[in-house]
Amino acid sequence: MTRFIFITGGVASSLGKGIASASLGALLQARGFSVRLRKLDPYLNVDPGTMSPYQHGEVYVTDDGAETDLDLGHYERFTGVPARQADSTTTGRIYSTVIARERRGDYLGATVQVIPHVTDAIKQFITGETGDTDFVLCEIGGTVGDIEGLPFLEAIRQLGNELGHARSLFVHLTLVPYIGSSGELKTKPTQHSVKELQSVGIQPDILLCRCDREIPAEARRKIALFCNLRPSAVIQALDVDSIYHVPQSYHEQGFDDEVMRHFAIEAKQPDLARWTGIMQRVRSPEGEVAVAVVGKYMTLKDAYKSLGEALAHGGIANNMRVKLNWIDSEIFEKEDAVHYLEGVHGILVPGGFGERGTEGKILAARFARERGVPYFGICFGMQMAVIEAARHLVGLDGAGSSEFGPCQHPVVGLLTEWTRGNAVERRMIGDNLGGTMRLGAYPADLAAGSKVRDIYDADRISERHRHRYEVNITYKDRLESAGLRFSGMSPDGTLPEIVEIPAHPWFVGVQFHPELKSKPFDPHPLFASFIKAAVAQSRLV
Ligand code: GLN
Repeated sequence: MTRFIFITGGVASSLGKGIASASLGALLQARGFSVRLRKLDPYLNVDPGTMSPYQHGEVYVTDDGAETDLDLGHYERFTGVPARQADSTTTGRIYSTVIARERRGDYLGATVQVIPHVTDAIKQFITGETGDTDFVLCEIGGTVGDIEGLPFLEAIRQLGNELGHARSLFVHLTLVPYIGSSGELKTKPTQHSVKELQSVGIQPDILLCRCDREIPAEARRKIALFCNLRPSAVIQALDVDSIYHVPQSYHEQGFDDEVMRHFAIEAKQPDLARWTGIMQRVRSPEGEVAVAVVGKYMTLKDAYKSLGEALAHGGIANNMRVKLNWIDSEIFEKEDAVHYLEGVHGILVPGGFGERGTEGKILAARFARERGVPYFGICFGMQMAVIEAARHLVGLDGAGSSEFGPCQHPVVGLLTEWTRGNAVERRMIGDNLGGTMRLGAYPADLAAGSKVRDIYDADRISERHRHRYEVNITYKDRLESAGLRFSGMSPDGTLPEIVEIPAHPWFVGVQFHPELKSKPFDPHPLFASFIKAAVAQSRLV
């Protein structure tokens, strides 16, 4: 029997609803239950794939090729359960389904309305494909009171009724701010937020109160009284030094106990050894290495959420703290890159789109190659490294990517046809931008004797993709004779997936996004190896 836990947020956005949901998922898992986490986003985009990283942060890609909210990355990192398209939806996607049904005539002459047709589609999403999972956790994006969120709240209200208390639970995350001038924690915003939720017919069962200091028992009693809850259901969600400390901190505050009490489940205490182990490593590393991330969306760290986490996991694997220098590549077009890159122990050029700042990225790749500094190029970062090698190792001055318009040597070009499993996928210039990239998991074969074969300790790997352009295979021979090795290829041998420089201490470019699959308790081998190389570099400089 699957039970459903609905997580809403109030008072303010950015309180960490995603981490809260992921942490509860981890706690339930630690008690031996199976979990799935789902996200419902109230915006009208069908998925976040067409949104600017400044608007939305990272687009998280699943194995089955869905472009989803970055919270799905938290879910997967905290629980290890691979996210799927069936775990992510938006208002846009729900409405597209409803409108397509209406056009087919599925509604048999009815007037199609938000209630019941849209809410039914939302309920189908929530309850669909749950299998025999013990708990499905559904996070509702946005903040209670947003107009866009109403159909979602109505749908979960209805579900709460249909499933009953024994199979549904409402968790509401709020903020209890500290007002410095009066020296007090304030409960009123939480009270108002709960009223807002009650006004749409939802009585939260558990309140998670974000706060930067202990909430006195008296204040918690007051919140419970005004919000119609028992005091033990008011859980303080204290600020902690690392997101990986949240599961344990919630447990100490009695969150999972309260969930068990609600469902009247007698369960064993959670085994939190995994999380205490991670925290030990995070808190007492043996040293520190500095990695420069040379990219584009540097003012918004959320744009590279999984990347930052994967680098931290690489640190965990090596008992090191990884200090990240986020550098906007455009700066290298005005100032000397040496000034910024001298002294770092590794250089990473992450994924990106568009021409702006690319010359700076190419410069960073060149610096790393020439100086023997560990270089990790991810997706766009691999493409930039190949352009750099074509220009300076092969001597093709006009080397570039067709993403930026026609060029003399398109060493990176638009992919118009490729195979996925046993089907052929096609795309043309001028096609829709939404959902038309090479998306999701694809296999790659690793060359015997290559560095990556050694790092993965496997002949075939599967990694997630999100890009439109590919390294142009017609330049392979020239690049290989100049010192670049194509060490990972698609199984049919047409798509370069990994390049490396055998004569360099650590120079690897990958066409996919390995950061999406890294976990704190299972660091991705490429990140573990890159940070290991950075540690070796730090002993040289
Ligand atoms: N802009 C490049 C492409 O579309 C790289 C994309 C990326 O880094 N994710 O191929």
